[in-house]
Amino acid sequence: RTVYVNGAYLPENEATISIFDRGFLMADGVYEVTSVLDGKLIDFEGHARRLSRSLNELDMANPISKDDLLEVHRELVRINEIEEGLVYLQVTRGSDGDRDFAFPAEDTPPTIVLFTQNKPGLADSPAARKGAKIISIEDIRWGRRDIKTVQLLYPSMGKMMAKKAGCDDAWMVEDGFVTEGTSNNAYIVKGNKIITRALSNDILHGITRAAVLRFAKEAQMEVEERNFTIDEAKEADEAFTTSASAFVMPVVEIDGTALGDGTPGRVAPRLREIYLDEMRKAAV
Ligand code: PMP
Repeated sequence: RTVYVNGAYLPENEATISIFDRGFLMADGVYEVTSVLDGKLIDFEGHARRLSRSLNELDMANPISKDDLLEVHRELVRINEIEEGLVYLQVTRGSDGDRDFAFPAEDTPPTIVLFTQNKPGLADSPAARKGAKIISIEDIRWGRRDIKTVQLLYPSMGKMMAKKAGCDDAWMVEDGFVTEGTSNNAYIVKGNKIITRALSNDILHGITRAAVLRFAKEAQMEVEERNFTIDEAKEADEAFTTSASAFVMPVVEIDGTALGDGTPGRVAPRLREIYLDEMRKAAV
């Protein structure tokens, strides 16, 4: 694989960053994941916009213009011959060569890293046809989940708890209400109505969420942005998650309770299809 580090395209085993990098020492960094279908980027604009916002919220300089960022994405997709897969992007605060809680001087260059992941069959996924089984876990993350930081230890642990329980993923619950999945936004469906938590600092403002809610409204579905509990979810007709890397993923079981007949329902697979069709058309 060829990767990108601070302006250079290099073989992955020749790419290096400092051991003092604050991303490594303090999770002081942000990231984005953009999917690739037909060799093209899905919703690059949305991810570039959220990257700027995340950096801004953390008083971190944006090391690259949007045009250059698009160019780097495209170049990596081209060099690595990615037809279906992902581009991972990370920007960290860099380092001034030592460890300190205080931020380094403002002119310290951030570290920017991009690499591709080849995932043939990402769109036509057997997992999406089957649907996901999830467990619920307490949400013990920090209070700025709207910033897409690389502090992913608890979501990783959540995934492991799900695996251990024979499930695929976990939904996190705070004060009795579902916040989001370990790496996706969470939804339930009742009749023609899609219910998902409203945007706030409690959840990541999913790029896929924004697109899917837009398509749902265009398809005359009702969208209600409000809190819901795990009990309400268990009684729902359907549930699903959205993320840039798994698109729309039906949820068929929550904490051992099957939803409906325990297979993906009507709404989630339809939204997945609409999302994939529309986003392929708009891909760059
Ligand atoms: N919530 C969390 C916690 C996530 O990690 C992600 C994916 N990174 C999402 C939601 C979905 O966001 P997006 O649709 O932009 O991938």
